[in-house]
Amino acid sequence: AGNRKSRGRTPQSLSFEEIGGQQRAKQELIEALDFLIKQDEIRQFGIRPLKGILLTGPPGTGKTLLAKAAAHYTDSVYVAASGSEFVEMYVGVGAGRIRDLFKEARQKAEKSGKSSAVVFIDEIDAIGGKRDGGQHREYDQTLNQLLTEMDGIHSSETPRILIMAATNRKDTLDSALVRPGRFDRHIGVELPDKKGREHILRIHAQNKPLHASVELSRLAEESFGFSGAQLESVMNEGAIYAMREGSERIEHRHLSMAIDKVMMGEKTDRQATR
Ligand code: ATP
Repeated sequence: AGNRKSRGRTPQSLSFEEIGGQQRAKQELIEALDFLIKQDEIRQFGIRPLKGILLTGPPGTGKTLLAKAAAHYTDSVYVAASGSEFVEMYVGVGAGRIRDLFKEARQKAEKSGKSSAVVFIDEIDAIGGKRDGGQHREYDQTLNQLLTEMDGIHSSETPRILIMAATNRKDTLDSALVRPGRFDRHIGVELPDKKGREHILRIHAQNKPLHASVELSRLAEESFGFSGAQLESVMNEGAIYAMREGSERIEHRHLSMAIDKVMMGEKTDRQATR
């Protein structure tokens, strides 16, 4: 999904401060995670432990970053897979891969001495799409294995496991996945507003030599509708323009040109896939 070509590398662990905008999503997620941390109180009140958090929203808005930050915040190990890995796997292989993922989470936690693990599954719709009468047997087995793993999680077990998943097609998910006790907490991660875009641009400008002419607030205005991933591209492409010209610093016009380029790129991408 989306424009992955020019994305920056993200570390295995990062804090919420490194995610621009997304104030509401961050707050909702932190509330859910605090709930997870207060295990004793939860047990005292007889509350069902939180097992799954579903992040929904358009591509490139920071869902993966939020999952990594959740692991950092709860001092958990982080393991991840993408639903798209499971497409076109032979029957049984997908289910095995899910089993291994959870095994990896438990082993990693044990090795590092941490008491919890975040298992993140991106593009969950690729395995958790609505079942359609046995046509996709492999998807069924993979999904069933995931459901089995989720149902097998107990709050008393160490490490505690939190499953996070992301999708930009929430409506296509099988109802078995989103029922209580599974992914029952949903957090919407939307395209950033102007303030959010400025924040994201600032984060990705941190390691770059900016010229005094650069006005991030104006760039945030000019990049209406851009995702975080596209804003990261803008900073990167702007730096490339500046370097090619032999400039010492990245000027505002370089970044304006980059906005046009990213916008055009999206258009040609869309035409190509039409
Ligand atoms: P997809 O649905 O395509 O998997 P996603 O929502 O998981 O996308 P990420 O993988 O988290 O998106 O973001 C991709 C890249 O875009 C990040 O590595 C980062 O460079 C940049 N990015 C996206 N959102 C933000 C944000 N809110 N703050 C800072 N950088 C961001």
